[in-house]
Amino acid sequence: MLYRSLNKKSDPVNFEKAIKLGLASDGGLFFPTTISPIKKDFIDKIEDYSNIEIAYQVLKQFVGNTISELDLKNIIESTIDFDFPLVKLEDNIFSLELYHGPTLAFKDVGARFMANCLGYFNKNRSKLTTVLVATSGDTGAAVANGFLDVKGTKVVILYPKNKVSEIQERQLTTNKKNITALRINGSFDDCQKMVKKAFVDKELNNQFNLTSANSINVARWLPQSLYYFYAYKKLKSKNLVFSVPSGNFGNICAGIVARELGLPIKHFIASTNVNDTIPRYFKNGVFKANKTIQTISNAMDVSNPSNFVRILEIFKDFDNLRKNMSSYSFNDVETLDLIKKVYDSKGYVLDPHGAVGLLGLNKYLKINSKNIGIFLETAHPIKFSDNVEKCLKIKLDTPERINKILSKEKEFIEIDNYDNFKNTLLNFR
Ligand SMILES: *Cc1c(COP(=O)(O)O)cnc(C)c1O
Repeated sequence: MLYRSLNKKSDPVNFEKAIKLGLASDGGLFFPTTISPIKKDFIDKIEDYSNIEIAYQVLKQFVGNTISELDLKNIIESTIDFDFPLVKLEDNIFSLELYHGPTLAFKDVGARFMANCLGYFNKNRSKLTTVLVATSGDTGAAVANGFLDVKGTKVVILYPKNKVSEIQERQLTTNKKNITALRINGSFDDCQKMVKKAFVDKELNNQFNLTSANSINVARWLPQSLYYFYAYKKLKSKNLVFSVPSGNFGNICAGIVARELGLPIKHFIASTNVNDTIPRYFKNGVFKANKTIQTISNAMDVSNPSNFVRILEIFKDFDNLRKNMSSYSFNDVETLDLIKKVYDSKGYVLDPHGAVGLLGLNKYLKINSKNIGIFLETAHPIKFSDNVEKCLKIKLDTPERINKILSKEKEFIEIDNYDNFKNTLLNFR
């Protein structure tokens, strides 16, 4: 299987090339040339298979012949060594907890898979791959953790100044070794713009093997489809709908890929904070990104979601899109209200992102009550303890791995603009 560029101006490439390039040479996102459904029999009996076996079935076509069966299985085993609990909140509402990995947010699976694949492809090469990653908080942490000490890689993280939580900033800036953090004077969208610009910068590309570890990279993005299979394994229903708290729309798009692979999912709900480009698009068909607004669900402070073009590629036209997907936005007051309400009534602590997901699910189920809804709980509440503790008037337990980094000193380079960023990169030589 090959990957083609959604800008259609460059030739298709295999998985190895796609992961190394990140973005196609014409600036487009890579997209699989074919998505072949998994055998129905496998999906019907999914509960008979381990998470590792499911991952292998799902991912093998996307890797093609670039990694042998045995090596791919080894990569998967070192990627997926934690659980994805499905917690029942109501008869028809479930929380899919995706935060049990090393950095306590859902991005660990994609980041670890990509790091392991890149380490595999680099094992006999001397030239360094420089991994650029723009982060609104969680991606950078997961990528740093996944790539720490991976041979032949150097990771450069761009994060927006004063727009990530304290724990997130510690996770980004205390790694040392092959990880460097750049603190950008701007928003996440500014960080993302710099990364995209670097990829089409001739001078940089002559000097570095650049790749991206954002969900624009197929190795980061596609493994996220596993979450939907793991949820289905635990809750086999013909009436499943998923609500996904969305920022760059990679996670929800991976869910749509899961459905293309044959998973019976009835509907998707893209839940956003007030960065509502997509909910507005669903209303009026006009795609217009406003200035990014800072919210308490900061990993979703994205106003120009990169992966939306992939969703359009799957659904083709606006009517079809709206038949299969809904999108709603919620503000911080609504989010905190729900966190409080769910804690008071169920004793369950949501993080602000999961809360936005549940808000969207509640809204959808109100008018489509026969469905069974799963919302993705994408981060551990401790990562956003400031807001959650203030809201609930409780103190959350701090996991040991967070305690460890809180005592370490932050190290980062301040960046104001693209030239500044470029010169910093060039100075790494
Ligand atoms: C990244 C992130 C999101 C948004 O995911 P996308 O794939 O960018 O839509 C939601 N919640 C958390 C906690 C995240 O870290």
